[in-house]
Amino acid sequence: MKALEKSEPREGLWMTRAPVPEIGPDDVLIKINKTGICGTDIHIWNWDDWASKTVPVPMITGHEFAGEIVEIGRNVDDLEVGQRCSGEGHLIGKHSRQSRSGKFHLDPETRGIGVNEQGAFAEYLRLPAFNVVPLPDEIDDEIGAILDPLGNAVHTALSFDLVGEDVLITGAGPIGIMAAAVARHVGARNVVITDVNQARLDLATRVVDVVPVNVAREDLKGIEKKLGMKEGFDVGLEMSGNQIALDQMVENLVMGGRIALLGIPPGKSPVDWSRIVFKAITIKGVYGREIFETWYKMIAMLQNGLDVRNVITHRFGVDDFEKGFAAMKSGEAGKVVLSWQ
Ligand code: NAD
Ligand code: ZN
Repeated sequence: MKALEKSEPREGLWMTRAPVPEIGPDDVLIKINKTGICGTDIHIWNWDDWASKTVPVPMITGHEFAGEIVEIGRNVDDLEVGQRCSGEGHLIGKHSRQSRSGKFHLDPETRGIGVNEQGAFAEYLRLPAFNVVPLPDEIDDEIGAILDPLGNAVHTALSFDLVGEDVLITGAGPIGIMAAAVARHVGARNVVITDVNQARLDLATRVVDVVPVNVAREDLKGIEKKLGMKEGFDVGLEMSGNQIALDQMVENLVMGGRIALLGIPPGKSPVDWSRIVFKAITIKGVYGREIFETWYKMIAMLQNGLDVRNVITHRFGVDDFEKGFAAMKSGEAGKVVLSWQ
């Protein structure tokens, strides 16, 4: 089969031929239709510090996918050949305290497809049946291929009650933009999104009814005044990994405000803790998606009017994968979807 692989420990990814994976009794084999390119795949392409320490070579990359089940293991009795699906790319262990108490997304033994295990950028993917998420007819393959990052957005956005609240999202990357769409969908009052990249803010307004603020040029306080907000935002969703954005968030939150942190800072970053203490702010770190609560919730929201389609800005056949990666690296794309059909 065709597979997009990290074949050598240096910059780049290469289209190779790999054997179709053999499945075990508890697995399924999925024929891949569409895949999404993630920031993680860019780290692996670039072969940065994190990637070279984490990813064994050779490795088929990719973890955002939608496809169709073509083979099922002999112990699998709740899935069918022909079933369209996406799936959770975190393969969990069953031994840790967290796993055994049903908090699968907090399992420390988790291994990621496309990172620690052969991934989804291939014609076929082996996946434990446990990880499969069947897709209803209303969710087509290209939306199915971005459920992984939509899940990050949903998990982060639903960390706190947003109904009637003023929400500040820092970072208008694909995940920040989708989080804004979720905040709107669940009934937030004002949703403001910040970035320093105008193209990203313009994209945000094509996806969702949100107030864009270019913090390189505009002052957040001025926007708050215009929106009639007196004491600041109730909830902050940090989606940039940028220290300045986090400081700005803390500064613009109400007393007792709540922050969910998804963005990953590049290294240790200084935090003004006394400010957080005196403002009585709650901070929650967010990793991945809840398995499978986030999946249920996001599929239900998509079936009931949540629309994130416009966050997909580029579509390529997989033979043009280099164009897809170039679009991602330009910093102006939303989601880039590759078709394997
Ligand atoms: P992205 O890099 O595409 O988007 C980040 C955006 O933040 C960019 O548009 C950038 O211009 C913007 N930004 C930079 N400085 C800013 C500032 N001072 N104020 C406001 N915005 C600023 O990332 P993404 O794919 O949308 O992912 C969002 C973040 O979430 C990333 O940091 C990513 O690493 C992280 N992430 C975390 C998890 C997790 O499990 N915790 C999972 C996926 C992604
Ligand atoms: Zn991803």
